Amino acid sequence: VISCGQVVAELSSCLDDRVAADLRREIEAHLAKCAACTAVYDSTRRTLTIVTESRTIELPEVISGRIVAGIMSRVRKRAAASPR
Ligand SMILES: [Zn+2]
Repeated sequence: VISCGQVVAELSSCLDDRVAADLRREIEAHLAKCAACTAVYDSTRRTLTIVTESRTIELPEVISGRIVAGIMSRVRKRAAASPR
């Protein structure tokens, strides 16, 4: 079982299809149970698609990581503001 931190750390690799099949399965299983990570995954995928479509260049991993970190901090703040 992998943690939210690990999922977020692997998200950009996962979206670029650069993760091993078994790790990808673990991430998908986690996403199915975790709303916060699903939100990050969807936002990241959308963000990366927009950037990719407008530039049609490969994203440097540093930028992807920064986008993920920004989204994740926003999700964390929202999750803290409205606990279930
Ligand atoms: Zn999670």
